[in-house]
Amino acid sequence: MNDDKFHDECAVVGVYGHPEAANLTYLGLYALQHRGQESTGIVSSDTRGIHTEIGMGRVNDFFNEERLSRLPGPLAIGHNRYSTTGTSTLRNAQPLAVDYSRGSLAIAHNGNLVNAHRVRSELEAYGSIFRSTSDTEVILHLIAQARSKDLVDCTVEALQQVQGAYSLLIMSREELIAVRDPHGFRPLCLGQLGDAYVLASETCALDLIEAEYLREVMPGELIRISAAGVQSYLPFAPAPSRRCVFELIYFARPDSDVFGHNVYLMRKAFGSRLAREAPIQADVVIPVPDSGIPAALGFAEAAGIPFDIGLIRNHYVGRTFIEPQSSIRHFGVKIKLNANRQFLEGKRVVVVDDSIIRGTTSQKLVQMIRQAGAKEVHMRISSPPTTHPCLYGIDTPTSDELIASSHTVDEICEYLQADSLAYLSHDGMMRVARESEQSYCSACFTGDYPIHVPWREDVQQLPLFQSY
Ligand code: AMP
Repeated sequence: MNDDKFHDECAVVGVYGHPEAANLTYLGLYALQHRGQESTGIVSSDTRGIHTEIGMGRVNDFFNEERLSRLPGPLAIGHNRYSTTGTSTLRNAQPLAVDYSRGSLAIAHNGNLVNAHRVRSELEAYGSIFRSTSDTEVILHLIAQARSKDLVDCTVEALQQVQGAYSLLIMSREELIAVRDPHGFRPLCLGQLGDAYVLASETCALDLIEAEYLREVMPGELIRISAAGVQSYLPFAPAPSRRCVFELIYFARPDSDVFGHNVYLMRKAFGSRLAREAPIQADVVIPVPDSGIPAALGFAEAAGIPFDIGLIRNHYVGRTFIEPQSSIRHFGVKIKLNANRQFLEGKRVVVVDDSIIRGTTSQKLVQMIRQAGAKEVHMRISSPPTTHPCLYGIDTPTSDELIASSHTVDEICEYLQADSLAYLSHDGMMRVARESEQSYCSACFTGDYPIHVPWREDVQQLPLFQSY
């Protein structure tokens, strides 16, 4: 299910060399709305300077013709955000744009830095004043302090001092830089539209503006797009690839190709693998819409059980403003999903979802499906138990809120009041991802973090940057 309560993370889009750069960026952000709904922004550049339009809300709520008309020029970057770090205010919205002694600079960041606190404290000790609480501003300060005249050199010098996950777009008045951290946690792709270049978190943004997909920005790669054309650099010490497997499971849009895989097909394959690992006799397989649909299709196909729609989603639900003390407060998940009684009555039902985080959604759904008259309710989850928080940009809650961090599968099954519960095995998930286990980050399922928090032991305190 797409649940607003901890929705997050970020989308980045950049366009170089198109007279309607801001309009294309806007459309790209529209396609990537699922990656963040709290704030949105675009910074553009023409020959005179940079122009900024940043605000709270969704792309379509904030941008209108007038705002877009204030973003002239052939170069633009944009960002959608829901904070994993920093508090969720306008001053943390991105792109972050500044004027400094060497000109103008704007930055859009997807990912989480794990040593931002320490770097920030050091910078503050030398007199830096920060305007936001976001980890991204640290990079901006480091670039401004770097000694070189060349923006690529300054960016590399800055990024050598930070650790963590970053898919970044940085623009000056004249050039656009894209960088992916050496582990490549978060996606970033490069496309072309006529003579223009487009960078985006996911390929579905390229599809919308009819740009041709060229390739992934490789982990550890920096690309500079300027009047000199496209230049690629590999400025960092090589590191093992640690692409985020949760992008494939839940986060990315199913029509995107992420890390070289079509997300929809991958989710279907997770579902069929799950059907083979945890078979069950049942009358019907139903998905938790929307994110459970591909895995449920794969499950049904492999199990030879009919796939059908037993839960109907209200697509118009935003935030609900009914106060907790209200007498009609117990909507919970019901406001978003409703069980189709006529259809479920008397059936043995398999419910497929992509993940269980706190357990609240699944618990309510099992209850709802039973109340609708189902004879048996079997939960199947197309990823392993989520036992650890993400440090690199997916907004999972802290360990104590993750039900699988303190409960066995049997205990979770009991909590859900399901007739059975099974998760996809870690090994099964990795086999489906068709790569050696080492090339993905699956720390949320294993606790095996590729980059540790250097000066704090307790990863349960995360998100790291919230205490400002
Ligand atoms: P919960 O009720 O906390 O167990 O939430 C589980 C639901 O949240 C599943 O239906 C998932 O599809 C969805 N989900 C998983 N990860 C996220 C995330 N980072 N943001 C929003 N929803 C998520």
